[in-house]
Amino acid sequence: MKSGNLGYPRIGLERQWKKALEAYWAGDLAEAELQTRLKDIRLSNLKAQQERGIEIIPVGDFTYYDHVLDTAVMFGIIPKRFGYEGGAPSLSVYYAMARGSKDAAACEMTKWFNTNYHYIVPELAGAHPVLTGNRLLEAYKEAKEELGIEGRPVLVGPLTFVKLSKGYAPHELADWTRRLVPLYAEVLRELAEAGVKWVQLDEPILSTHVSAEELALAEELYGQLARQVPEIRLFLQTYFEAVDQYEAVVALPVHGIGLDFVHDGGRNLEAVLRHGFPAGKLLGAGLVDGRNIWACDPDEKLKVLTALRQTVADEFLVVQPSCSLLHVPVSTVKETKLESVLRQALAFADQKLEEVALLTKAGNLGAEAVAAELEALRSGRAALAASPSRNRAKVRERMSRLQSQPITRASSFEERRELQEKRWQLPLLPTTTIGSFPQTPEVRSARQKWRKGDWSEEQYQVFIREEIGRWIGIQKDLGLDVLVHGEFERNDMVEFFGEKLAGFAFTGNGWVQSYGSRCVKPPVIYGDVEYTSPMTVAETVYAQSLSDAPVKGMLTGPVTILNWSFVRDDLPRRDVAFQIALALREEVEALEAAGIGMIQVDEPALREGLPLKPEQGPAYLEWTVKAFRLSTSTVKDETQIHTHMCYCEFQDMIDSIRALDADVISIETSRSHGELITSFEEQTYELGIGLGVYDIHSPRVPPVAEMEGMIRRALQVLSPRQFWINPDCGLKTRRMLETVAALGNMVEAAKQVRAELGSAGVRA
Ligand code: GLN
Ligand code: ZN
Repeated sequence: MKSGNLGYPRIGLERQWKKALEAYWAGDLAEAELQTRLKDIRLSNLKAQQERGIEIIPVGDFTYYDHVLDTAVMFGIIPKRFGYEGGAPSLSVYYAMARGSKDAAACEMTKWFNTNYHYIVPELAGAHPVLTGNRLLEAYKEAKEELGIEGRPVLVGPLTFVKLSKGYAPHELADWTRRLVPLYAEVLRELAEAGVKWVQLDEPILSTHVSAEELALAEELYGQLARQVPEIRLFLQTYFEAVDQYEAVVALPVHGIGLDFVHDGGRNLEAVLRHGFPAGKLLGAGLVDGRNIWACDPDEKLKVLTALRQTVADEFLVVQPSCSLLHVPVSTVKETKLESVLRQALAFADQKLEEVALLTKAGNLGAEAVAAELEALRSGRAALAASPSRNRAKVRERMSRLQSQPITRASSFEERRELQEKRWQLPLLPTTTIGSFPQTPEVRSARQKWRKGDWSEEQYQVFIREEIGRWIGIQKDLGLDVLVHGEFERNDMVEFFGEKLAGFAFTGNGWVQSYGSRCVKPPVIYGDVEYTSPMTVAETVYAQSLSDAPVKGMLTGPVTILNWSFVRDDLPRRDVAFQIALALREEVEALEAAGIGMIQVDEPALREGLPLKPEQGPAYLEWTVKAFRLSTSTVKDETQIHTHMCYCEFQDMIDSIRALDADVISIETSRSHGELITSFEEQTYELGIGLGVYDIHSPRVPPVAEMEGMIRRALQVLSPRQFWINPDCGLKTRRMLETVAALGNMVEAAKQVRAELGSAGVRA
């Protein structure tokens, strides 16, 4: 059997990629210099794979921004507004599509399946696809000439490409894919002429729900490619889940199929064992987790490999990661500051490739041949499993009593509402914000000085209090009804809590690409999560001491903390969410005990964690709702629980949102262009709700009348008694002046509409 890889992180060990791109955009780097730097990174990425003994090395996975954008540009799918006039597209057109230019808005960006990677959405409307170049051919030749690597070109497959694009009606899917087939064929033909034998076409869409027509279409498309370019062997790669219809997928007219044996819930393996695997086809066995950062359990992997060998002959097996390694950091070499018991149990991209090579060797030569290496993996994992940081008695004890933990508020929403209205005496249509205020350069530099030790704890606290005081003053002057402290002490809404809870670790260099040059460094949940001490009480209480109006406490919810972290792989994610929820509950209770009567628990990432397969949605929603309720159900009736979600297709999960039983929810609305509001014509929702009345992603200050319009529109479907007025999301990325101006208009709009409601709208 052989070892293979599907894609390698682009960003470089030192994030050189990000730095080169950003310097070029800032005008500090000439195009030629950018090209040289990117070539260096590309070649060193290839070398990293070669040195680790990977036999099948992908080429063409490297990008100047995003691989879906690369595919669109290669096929000339470049919207008119970018002024492209044929020929080889320039770098400025390419980056204008990704980031916008002064004349044209950027293409939309959206999440790549269920990952935190975002791709640029191709726009098919009005496009006339033509081949503008062959980036795979260039990549192939470069790898061969410079490093003697016989690479395997990678490209997004036609079905996935068109399914992820926009600007066409569903019934045009087949047409669009058919229009692209000649271009794919041309790319393949040129590759064949250069000596390429195998090409990897990524079709992760086959792991989502696919219809019978779509499968028939895939069969037709791949049949066409096979007929038109018989010299090329196609390797069809799927990932992130089990393939939807195993028998049909493995029967597609290609020479190899890659399956994910990590994130498939065991279903891919079961299908191979039950239905067999077509003789003469290569099986890419995705054994090593490409989505998480833990060293693998070699015995579990070898067991899967052994099972596969019952069906597939060795010469047709490729050991590989479950997906492109784009989703994990580059290497653990720089993690010298981590506790060694943790460090030894980690595997980033380079270590994962070593695992791939090792498992391949174990398969070919027998486990005895690599006994020492296998033992090292085992003992690394065992040491972490046994470590005190992973096993906290109090947490375990509490988890064992989970069934008896309250997940229901003492009284119904109606009863709580009465008490809460009496307590706060808020006007109709109360105004508030989502939590954060502008993180100015001064705020960021203060935090840096404190982190570096240039500032004492005391100095930093004084600074934070001044900011809080200033913004409480601004909110009072604006006439907002419910205030916030502003989150100045937080760099990131998950990291802040992770640093204060036990069970989290922070890598020094564990960066992964989120979109374009933006990288994130997710916290690592490696042990039982435990509350240690109050996290937000001092700042919130201080803010409240400056105002008679209520100040909302502000926490990040358990599901969002989970979904934006790398999570230990020895417990179900659900259990980790419950641990976080129990810890947050202590903070909720501490805030309440300190006199804070409104507490917001943000869950912007709840929806994005939905499984790829719709049939698994209900189970996920059930435990995520339970986690939220575990953290929020023990407060008194008159304590008001708020929550916030960013963009959310309310329609498809309204029952779960209702089940959160939050007294007030705020949701981003502007990006759904009124669709969200319309959805309340069909659905009823009784609890408190604020539909964002202005978009915080732009510096634009919307006039009063525009926000009034948003409010009136919402009041056609929601009652004034339940409606709250707030922006779409937190304001931390905005500047102070535009923030104050926009909030001033928002308060004014609320007053106007309130006045119109008059006595008819008076609270019951
Ligand atoms: N409370 C957070 C803020 O205002 C919420 C951010 C979010 O929804 N992503 O910044
Ligand atoms: Zn938000």
